[in-house]
Amino acid sequence: MAEKKALIYEGKAKKVFATDNADLVIQDFKDDATAFNGLKKGQIADKGVVNNTISCALFTLLESKGIRTHFVKKLSDREMLIKHLTILPVELVVRNIAAGSLVKRYGIKEGLVLEQPVIECYFKNDALGDPLMNDDHVVMFGLATREQLAEIKTQATKINEILKAYFLERNLKLVDFKLEFGVHKGEVLLGDEISPDTCRFWDSVTNEKMDKDRFRLDLGLVEETYHEVLSRITGKA
Ligand code: UDP
Repeated sequence: MAEKKALIYEGKAKKVFATDNADLVIQDFKDDATAFNGLKKGQIADKGVVNNTISCALFTLLESKGIRTHFVKKLSDREMLIKHLTILPVELVVRNIAAGSLVKRYGIKEGLVLEQPVIECYFKNDALGDPLMNDDHVVMFGLATREQLAEIKTQATKINEILKAYFLERNLKLVDFKLEFGVHKGEVLLGDEISPDTCRFWDSVTNEKMDKDRFRLDLGLVEETYHEVLSRITGKA
């Protein structure tokens, strides 16, 4: 089932291949890492394997809790079979604790615990540097309908509740994360990946950064940290 065919898209961290089934594609995770809108480039050994394994585990978890995703099955160390989506060009960021661009943009203190999750919309457009948008921008520029936007925000809130609890059991605080959704046969599904590339995790005891910030900020122990997150997930399946 689902024989790998031509490369149809290559992004910063993944390649997407067609299959002999028009409804299904394969995402293949690379070790390449980028930050600051592609200005910083590097490689993180085994990142593709780690992120594919973590994403497969998290999509399986979310599906078991009733979240509809593009995930079909894990094919190999680096490959995941997924439903072919037309991605909505809006990225949703969910924040539980202030970090990253929230701190820079608004001058608030890193580590401030937000009383309720804050959901932000970004225009998925590398040439423009993925600018922050409000709901009216998203709808009026045709990135998603008002109904789709409401639906993906509802999904994002549920996903946050599921993942926050899951990671806390693994001694990780889920600080913030990015989600992408797409349409498959008229249905909106969660797509892309969920990994230390797309989430911020802090150790729940020491607050040590356990995610791509180690690469972004040159904090060292990058590979070791990705493996540690993986082992906290697989070690307590
Ligand atoms: N994020 C992502 N892709 C992006 C931008 C952000 O996966 O193109 C994730 C990032 O890893 C973090 C969250 O979204 O977990 C919030 O990122 P933020 O807006 O703070 O931007 P950053 O500091 O990463 O530039």
